[in-house]
Amino acid sequence: MDLHGHLLYIDITQICGIGCAFCMYADKHKVGMSMELSSQARENLRALINAPDVKRISISGEGEPLNNTRVFHEILDLSQGGKCFEFITSGFFPHEKMAEFYDTTNRILVSRGDTCNIRLSSDSHHLDKVKWRAHGFSVDYLRQHRPAGLSLSFRSIDTDREFTRNYLREELARWGIDASVVPGNALDDTLLIGAERFSIDYKNLVHPAADTPSGYLDLHGYIAAIEARVNKRFTFGSLNPPPHANGMDLTVKPNGDVYLYGIEYQRLGNIHFDRIGWEQVASHIRETPLLLALYSQPLKDLLARLDGLDLVHTILRKVNNPYWLVKEMANHKGLLERMVPA
Ligand code: SF4
Repeated sequence: MDLHGHLLYIDITQICGIGCAFCMYADKHKVGMSMELSSQARENLRALINAPDVKRISISGEGEPLNNTRVFHEILDLSQGGKCFEFITSGFFPHEKMAEFYDTTNRILVSRGDTCNIRLSSDSHHLDKVKWRAHGFSVDYLRQHRPAGLSLSFRSIDTDREFTRNYLREELARWGIDASVVPGNALDDTLLIGAERFSIDYKNLVHPAADTPSGYLDLHGYIAAIEARVNKRFTFGSLNPPPHANGMDLTVKPNGDVYLYGIEYQRLGNIHFDRIGWEQVASHIRETPLLLALYSQPLKDLLARLDGLDLVHTILRKVNNPYWLVKEMANHKGLLERMVPA
């Protein structure tokens, strides 16, 4: 199995004081930790980031990554150039501090020849809680400063897309910026400001609570929307458009533990104590029948093999995200393995 075009997620903190009602990491925020980089961690991350087959490095957290900007900037410093980063945030800093963050981030990116897309949460859950809203400010910053390394996009987990569309138009209008939204497919829109285009991604709320408003896609609907967007059947791993092979999705947690994204019942190692490399992870996938199946066979086909099991139907009724599905199924010994023919 060819594996090219990998995605590296680095969760740099569990700290967050924002308190979104739906947050699936809320239990970690009070006693959470932030990533620190040991010399072994630097060595591992330098190798992971600079491998030619890495298409993107996504910095996020099980908390708000603005709570650990020092390590974010240390990570940017590890790049040897030509890399695409993204930073997923609520943008909660006061505007002056946000400007300093953008200035420093851009300076490092430009010095390395890299770029970073700042992905601002733009849904009712986050906006309800954030005092300093970064959307209009950030577009204005980009227009005023034209930072060569930074770009901007928006993300939302609202089922009511009009909320996000109206919010962005109105918020930008307050900054004297005339914007319109071009509706896209089930998972994205485009915000237009003159000739400039900014994407708006819509995500399915992971693990919705019983009282969550209706309108979210169920698991099969969500998978169908992803398949329509990438024009390919959904498997685990980083989906690249045809005819390209898919890549690996690797997640590094704030304590340094490493997992395949969405297959987080099985720890692959720790960046502080082990040597972690893409080749070694690829071999592990190819040699492990369940991982090989999840990475190479469409998830819907694998699930069809469990069609007769009530337990699976119960799980499918409450899980609407493939990555959460694996987490739930792993709680039942042997269930995931039943998807793989002997
Ligand atoms: S900002 Fe992110 S980490 Fe913080 S509570 Fe909201 S969803 Fe959770």
